[in-house]
Amino acid sequence: MKKIQMVDLITQYQKIKHDVDAALMNIMESAQFINGPEVKSFQAEMEEYLGVKHVIPCANGTDALQIALMSFGLEPGDEVITPSFTFIATTEVMALLGLKPVFVDIDPDTFCIDPAKIEEVITPKTKVIVPVHLYGQMANMDAIMDIADRHNLRVIEDNAQAIGSDYHCADGKDRKAGTLGDIGCTSFFPSKNLGCYGDGGAIFTNDDELAVQMRMIVNHGQSKRYYHDVVGCNSRLDSLQAAVLRIKLRKLDEYINARRTVADHYDRFFADFDQVKTPVRGSHSRHVFHQYTLTLDGVDRDGLNAYLAEKEVPSMIYYPVPGHKQKMFAHFGSASRELPVTEWLTKRVISLPMHTEMEQEQLDYICESVAEYLKR
Ligand SMILES: *Cc1c(COP(=O)(O)O)cnc(C)c1O
Repeated sequence: MKKIQMVDLITQYQKIKHDVDAALMNIMESAQFINGPEVKSFQAEMEEYLGVKHVIPCANGTDALQIALMSFGLEPGDEVITPSFTFIATTEVMALLGLKPVFVDIDPDTFCIDPAKIEEVITPKTKVIVPVHLYGQMANMDAIMDIADRHNLRVIEDNAQAIGSDYHCADGKDRKAGTLGDIGCTSFFPSKNLGCYGDGGAIFTNDDELAVQMRMIVNHGQSKRYYHDVVGCNSRLDSLQAAVLRIKLRKLDEYINARRTVADHYDRFFADFDQVKTPVRGSHSRHVFHQYTLTLDGVDRDGLNAYLAEKEVPSMIYYPVPGHKQKMFAHFGSASRELPVTEWLTKRVISLPMHTEMEQEQLDYICESVAEYLKR
């Protein structure tokens, strides 16, 4: 049996190697490494796939979030409502810009921000809500957009983990993750559902004015060459990454289906075990399983993690310390905020290998290994 990995990018590459190698060689030959035609083509293809007016490629998902926040012209001390149960990048950029992350608890079924707990933390300083579509499942965007409308707030979707997911909107239409809020942000980090071979990210919006603003910000605030209207940064997706992404975008739906098939198998296997809760698939969106995360009840998680490691089955804890407890935010005094669901889940979640190249034999071995531990 092939060695099991959390994400098997090597096998995935081998299957598209012919196309990828040719595309990369072409760029080397043309030496158009920055802002070449591949970047423009990728941008157009991504706009088409998402059904969104503007895709702005940038250097990584963290920059995407930062640039999105910069485009709103916020004041230092303005507040941004966000979950604590997420990767640090979501909230780190807020602090970096002098904004205050205001942490809200999550829904125990979706792992995403609980809309019922948003309004109680809104103050006159609140300007933005940043929901995170965690593990591949979307937050309840109907409820979030409704709150944002009523309180005149902006919404940025952190869509680093749910690219390709569809949201079943109240109006009966399906819309792609990242295109429901004012702005959507994503990451093309290699292990993400649409990953390149280095760093990469993108910002999505249907708002023409925000798009103009963000296109300036990613390029030193430049409106025309050497005329700098606003303070920006240097955040580019390079041509090599764009070329890889063009090839993988064509396969994204196939990749998502492969992940969902793995999830189906795990779901069926673990249905009989009382000590584990399998991921709940909300009816509002299509889960794209960036992670397959179990919630353990009455199981020694560290013990399971160590047992699996011994059997050469990798497993991961996303994330062991929630944002509001991180030292970097100590000055906000958020550690004392009570986020019971976040804290409960932080101690109980464990993610199993999940990727597009899983073989049946590997899947069976992972399931049996977890079961051996649970039955002890
Ligand atoms: C990966 C990730 C990011 C950051 O993306 P990078 O490309 O690594 O900067 C932000 N938010 C979430 C939820 C992520 O998973």
